Amino acid sequence: MMILVTGGAGFIGANFVLDWLAKSDEPLVNLDVLTYAGNLDTLRTLDGDQRHVFVRGSIGDSELVTQLLTQYKPRAVINFAAESHVDRSIHGPEDFIQTNIVGTFHLLEAVRAYWGELEEDSRQNFRMLHVSTDEVYGSLTKDEPAFTETHRYEPNSPYSASKAASDHLVRAYHHTYGLPVLTTNCSNNYGPYHFPEKLIPLMIVNALAGKTLPVYGDGQQIRDWLYVKDHCSAIRRVLESGKLGEVYNVGGWNEKPNIEIVHTICALLDELRPRPDGASYRSQITYVTDRPGHDRRYAIDASKLQRELNWKPAETFETGIRKTVQWYLDNQDWVVNVQSGNYRDWVEKNYNER
Ligand code: NAD
Repeated sequence: MMILVTGGAGFIGANFVLDWLAKSDEPLVNLDVLTYAGNLDTLRTLDGDQRHVFVRGSIGDSELVTQLLTQYKPRAVINFAAESHVDRSIHGPEDFIQTNIVGTFHLLEAVRAYWGELEEDSRQNFRMLHVSTDEVYGSLTKDEPAFTETHRYEPNSPYSASKAASDHLVRAYHHTYGLPVLTTNCSNNYGPYHFPEKLIPLMIVNALAGKTLPVYGDGQQIRDWLYVKDHCSAIRRVLESGKLGEVYNVGGWNEKPNIEIVHTICALLDELRPRPDGASYRSQITYVTDRPGHDRRYAIDASKLQRELNWKPAETFETGIRKTVQWYLDNQDWVVNVQSGNYRDWVEKNYNER
């Protein structure tokens, strides 16, 4: 038995790959095109591990995906591959349309053809899990209840609109063709191996480098935060026990304004790596012009997943953020490598065949 993971060199995908192989001996094929966000350095501990087959390529390359499906006959496909950074989607939406919408469409087509050819037993057991975001639901005011799975889709950025489109395609392939799919919509993740363009790693890395800590607008934008390993455990649970065709929200019951996140990081760094001058890292905070169309609040109601599949996160925000800050302090090499682009030179040398 085997599974196919797409986007498994990115932040959540790589954490999932590491977690999967730490917990089971079932091998996996990892298909990732290695954009700037894909980093094989994260998977270095798997070098020489026969259970991990890495293939550089795109979910939009139907021929390649079909070849992998035919060769490895996975019992499941988990789709993490995406363009994922909201700011980048504002400055250049096209890649988001290509990967998140067109790429997902090609992946669905290849999976549908493969699934259609499987023998009855394998056909019954096969499933495809599509990993998505709470951002598809739009923005909430302070007092509105958290998003449930039936909340209407109201995406506000090119990123969330492209993810919404991919969710709709996945849904349509179930209703139209009976494709056995599952979708998860998760809140903001944080944890090890997070690319330092996102809020939490950016603040840690900038603080340690003595740079400013740029906070958008008034810093009162509220997000729900989930430790990445808890997201991985939720995906495993949905893959194992989720009802086909269903959507499951995944969240940490940790709604926090951005500024509070930044203050927490500063306090942890003050404790774990005090500045030589004795000042608090808080003094590095600078407020910058807000992102256009910045959603005010996301809040996710993950009670369906808890109630029906008995899942709940292992980490509180306090334990998860402490582990995360400590991880960045202990893994400065990984950060330096990402920032210097060294890993990209290595990728180009070793994976330039396609
Ligand atoms: P990421 O940007 O860190 O990683 C994305 C990975 O996909 C990269 O390794 C990249 O090389 C790869 N990729 C991009 N285009 C590809 C293509 N055409 N074919 C194959 N691989 C391709 O993103 P992430 O934060 O790990 O997010 C993974 C998934 O989870 C995304 O679908 C995202 O929408 C979703 N999600 C993320 C969060 C979050 O907080 N990061 C929250 C909820 C949902």
